[in-house]
Amino acid sequence: MDIIDQVARVMEWEKDKIWFSTRFNYSIFSSVAAPGTSQHLSMIALDVTQFADKRVRTILNKHGWFQTIIDDTPHFTYLGRKEKDLPKYGLRPDTKDGFTFWIPNFDR
Ligand SMILES: [Zn+2]
Repeated sequence: MDIIDQVARVMEWEKDKIWFSTRFNYSIFSSVAAPGTSQHLSMIALDVTQFADKRVRTILNKHGWFQTIIDDTPHFTYLGRKEKDLPKYGLRPDTKDGFTFWIPNFDR
């Protein structure tokens, strides 16, 4: 099934409250990329078990990897820039639970 049909099929099932999120209690599109669109598939993201360790985050940040998805703390996206330069690329920091996430700088 091609990607467009996969997304349409999932949306049809979710209309009937057949959910596919991690706990099967809400839409998969609220927490996970649509099939075929994950940053992981493009190899610009990785999930880090040691995300809570400040030393690990510092090393990743130094090499251009940043947390970018609020509520997905293990997820790091390769932005390839120094942290001080991220605002120049349309990102702003948002802090939650002591973690800094770099997110697009537009109103939510
Ligand atoms: Zn991830």
